Amino acid sequence: MEKIKILGIGIDNVTLEEAVEYSRKRISSGWITKVYTPNSEMLVETVRDRSFEELLMAGDLLLPDGVGLLKGARFYKKRFKEKVAGVDYAYALLKMAKEEGLKVFLLGGKEEVVELAAERVERDHPGVLAGFHDGYFGPEGEDLVIRKIKASGADILLVALGMKKQERFIGDHLERCGVKLGVGVGGTVDILAGTVMRAPEFFIRNGLEWLYRLMKQPGRFIRMLDLPRFIFLC
Ligand code: UDP
Repeated sequence: MEKIKILGIGIDNVTLEEAVEYSRKRISSGWITKVYTPNSEMLVETVRDRSFEELLMAGDLLLPDGVGLLKGARFYKKRFKEKVAGVDYAYALLKMAKEEGLKVFLLGGKEEVVELAAERVERDHPGVLAGFHDGYFGPEGEDLVIRKIKASGADILLVALGMKKQERFIGDHLERCGVKLGVGVGGTVDILAGTVMRAPEFFIRNGLEWLYRLMKQPGRFIRMLDLPRFIFLC
């Protein structure tokens, strides 16, 4: 697959459909696959933290999650086929899991939120859910969570622990979890649960999802300064 290098990180130039097909093939051939969904904030973080850069570079599939990346690519005279949002990929994986008879484990989010997300996954994709666990466990809870995932017999692990924590969990523990595919999916559990709404179509179509998010969560303002920083770095 073609990669577009942004701030030194090769991001896969794939459509959502291609990403899902690749995942399907990797699972059926038994490869363990790490999928990350970098946005511009994450790429700026790789400049600040080299260990995070290494972690991302060790991923098998890096999806261009965010309009910032699409704009950033233009500075390198490249063009992504499309933005592949982590949440869309997660929904597509659930559908694919249903078709293929695969099991999915949800990890992350607050206890009541992941419970709600699990209920909705059960309702919309019966038989797909292998198990779930909230994302607020310390290093001492890690072993227990890993054993729970392994015992669930899941094939796919969706990890929503926030940027860095989720990639670290996948990078360090995926093999021990016994799953074939691990994905860092950010706030997807909140969207699956319905506690956070996705931006209305207008914002998505015009590349303004970030603005909608800022309106809903003004506390993210400082983090969002990474967006202009990202463009400057590109
Ligand atoms: N989260 C979690 N454990 C933590 C920190 C965050 O499970 O220690 C969850 C949080 O509840 C939310 C998701 O991770 O469901 C994404 O959080 P945030 O929006 O802060 O992440 P980012 O924008 O960095 O991906």
